[in-house]
Amino acid sequence: MQKGKSGILAQNPAIHERKLRLRWLLAASSIPLFGIITAFGIAPQTSDVNVPVSTVIEEVALPQSPLAALGVSGETGSIWQTDQVKQDDTLSTLLDRLNIHNDEAIEFLRRAPEASVLPSQLRPGRHVLANTSVDGDLLELLYQTGPDTALQVKRGAGSYHAAQVQFALENRTVMKSAEIQSSLFAATDDAGIPDTIAMQLAEIFSSDIDFHLDLRRGDRFSVIYEASYNNGELVKSGRVLSAEFVNQGKTYHAVLYRDQAGHSNYYTPEGKSLHKSFLRSPLEFSRISSGFSLARFHPVLQTWRAHKGVDYAAPIGTRIKATADGTVAFVGTQGGYGNVIMLEHSGGISTVYGHLSHFAAGLHKGQKITQGDVIGQVGMSGLATGSHLHYEFRVHGEHRDPLKVALPVNVPLSKSELASFQRQVHPFVEDLALLRHSNTISLD
Ligand SMILES: [Zn+2]
Repeated sequence: MQKGKSGILAQNPAIHERKLRLRWLLAASSIPLFGIITAFGIAPQTSDVNVPVSTVIEEVALPQSPLAALGVSGETGSIWQTDQVKQDDTLSTLLDRLNIHNDEAIEFLRRAPEASVLPSQLRPGRHVLANTSVDGDLLELLYQTGPDTALQVKRGAGSYHAAQVQFALENRTVMKSAEIQSSLFAATDDAGIPDTIAMQLAEIFSSDIDFHLDLRRGDRFSVIYEASYNNGELVKSGRVLSAEFVNQGKTYHAVLYRDQAGHSNYYTPEGKSLHKSFLRSPLEFSRISSGFSLARFHPVLQTWRAHKGVDYAAPIGTRIKATADGTVAFVGTQGGYGNVIMLEHSGGISTVYGHLSHFAAGLHKGQKITQGDVIGQVGMSGLATGSHLHYEFRVHGEHRDPLKVALPVNVPLSKSELASFQRQVHPFVEDLALLRHSNTISLD
């Protein structure tokens, strides 16, 4: 039995590679490995044939796969094979590599509607894991269908069954710091911070910092966020729990607080909401819009009228957000503005968005708009030589620099919420302080 298995393993050169990687992993850390061994039921095999554990680790191609967290266990003497879908794979070539040869299994995987995700979504790179008998009868198969989901096919009571299963993920809290040299995304890339976290940062501080115009070299930030791991590999990042952002020498803080009604929002450590009546930037922040070069952009300044707005260089199609709750006062074409939207807000404030390529579908005069709603897309209609958004901010009809206007602040937490708030966010405020401190030390 053991011999037969070794024979099969030896036929597959890919397995030697995995064995090498496995040894390397063993050298790096033995703890996750033992987790895998338990999860895959290889331990029962070892007790059966009575081989020292170290030998087993050398000989058995341990599946180093995110599917490992599913905690499957195999029959004694059965073979586990892990693989990834290759570029030119067909169902046949994949099943062949996985040592699946019984007609019943092949037929089931090919035709059963409940297993159709395998033949219909054979995407390169996806992990697959199979448990077969020495003779090539499929006992169990796992096929990755998402970051934390898999199709599980099992043989029971004479026939095969398939079901979607969820990975058990390990949740961790991650702390990272970075300094901006060229752009936010360059900094987050260097620090190994996922894009979703970078975008959350921009969103969280969007009432205080215009991430398109305000960032400077030397700005720095610390962030604490949730992340889900599977077998040591990051599969999902969650929410930012707290963050500190130093922009042009001014420090901003944010902590996530879930209030008594169950709503989660960001606050300062003192319990003031970070959500304000106006966003600093009308542009949706993304890797593309943030990297758009100002050098490519030559606005027609002061030619068609005294220039009384802020110009945001951005690729055509970048989404434009209403900076505050309001009502549509105008949507249509107007002279040098080209396609333009004018919104009226409370307090006699109005905002203008010009040179658009598209309006949001159905947008019409009198329509109520909520802050952050996408109202249109960047273009170069009207008098514009490059694709950009012309944004104006008017108070009682007078043009004001939105970057200089003190924007109205939202209400702070009530007294009863504040006590619960302080209990909940205190640890994260402390962690941020520690992070800042340790950073300072490492820079010295
Ligand atoms: Zn302009």
